[in-house]
Amino acid sequence: MAENGQVTKEDVIRALSTVQEPELGGDLVSRNMVRDVAVCDGMVAFEVVLTTPACPLKGQIENECRQALMKLPGVKQVTVRMGSNVARRAQMGEDLLPEVRNVIAVASGKGGVGKSTVAVNLAAALAQTGARVGLLDADIYGPSIPVMMGVQRAPFVDPRDRKILPIEQHQLKCMSLGFLMPDNATPVVWRGPMVGSAVRQMLADVKWGELDYLIVDLPPGTGDAQLTLAQTVPLTGVVIVMTSQDVAVNIASKALAMFQKLNVPVLGVVENMSTFVCPHCQHETNIFTRGGGEQAAMKLGVPFLGSIPLDPQVVAHGDAGTPTVVAAAESAQAEAFRKVTGAVAARVSVLHFGADKAADGGHKDPLGGLMSRFRKS
Ligand code: ADP
Repeated sequence: MAENGQVTKEDVIRALSTVQEPELGGDLVSRNMVRDVAVCDGMVAFEVVLTTPACPLKGQIENECRQALMKLPGVKQVTVRMGSNVARRAQMGEDLLPEVRNVIAVASGKGGVGKSTVAVNLAAALAQTGARVGLLDADIYGPSIPVMMGVQRAPFVDPRDRKILPIEQHQLKCMSLGFLMPDNATPVVWRGPMVGSAVRQMLADVKWGELDYLIVDLPPGTGDAQLTLAQTVPLTGVVIVMTSQDVAVNIASKALAMFQKLNVPVLGVVENMSTFVCPHCQHETNIFTRGGGEQAAMKLGVPFLGSIPLDPQVVAHGDAGTPTVVAAAESAQAEAFRKVTGAVAARVSVLHFGADKAADGGHKDPLGGLMSRFRKS
């Protein structure tokens, strides 16, 4: 405290050094999370720079800062700005996505468990916190992002470098092969190496720009798309979506084992369609074993990121092209998706980035001229 009894900058910093970062450990000051401290006549203002705007403990951290400062004699008013600077994954020499800070894959052992639904809502919920987010539909066998995001047009091509501009929808930059197939019903036959190269092209030939998070909706199972993605860009991590029947858990554990073998950190497991909440009486009915997802995560030795109840509204939102977190932001469903999103973002922040991935070997143009035809049009 200054001789005139006024609070000083040093007092403020000392007080803030008693506030802990609950997820990462250590205090805010030694973690370099406090910036722009200004003090004038008992009024204190500063910024807390979080590692993600989706930090689930944002409110708690802000409150603890306020409490620590209000204890200081002479403090009349506290203004806290909650900012963020998203942590960056390790990059490899020739990184295809140098401007993308985190690449998060969403995977499942089998189809129909709600992987795309979780990917879309995860991406949209991250964007709602102010993060810069992309959504890549790498589920080339059954691209569902065009319908779920309500996009029915082909993306533009930048004539200067012939690269594709992702389509912006619901605050997300999106890309799907489905955008290039107008009726979405034409079956495409994919041979093994083509799959990997299609994924590679959608990473490299799309102008993603600066992103905090790129969410990648993978095809179900363990195949070429997963392999290429893991070998082409250093993934921050993978989220595994599953339902909690035993059979789904067994299949999910295979997917999980594959990513672990590829040295991709597993961010955790999301249990989808765990319970059914009656839209009329709000009664909650278990569909599978209660807590099955959590038990499965424990069995598999990975974090549990949360569960999403089954709700017919989720289907309706998906079919109408607006993610639930946008279409019904106040609903319990949206809250469940936001909780999972907070857990994913928090896991990303605590992860130690840095696994080196082998560079992918050269592939021929795998899209059978699909992309090139589109580019000429
Ligand atoms: P996947 O990507 O695993 O194949 P999708 O996300 O396409 O699965 O979902 C399959 C179907 O299940 C879709 O019709 C989707 O709307 C529906 N669905 C997904 N999650 C839920 C949920 N929590 N409640 C109700 N329906 C859901």
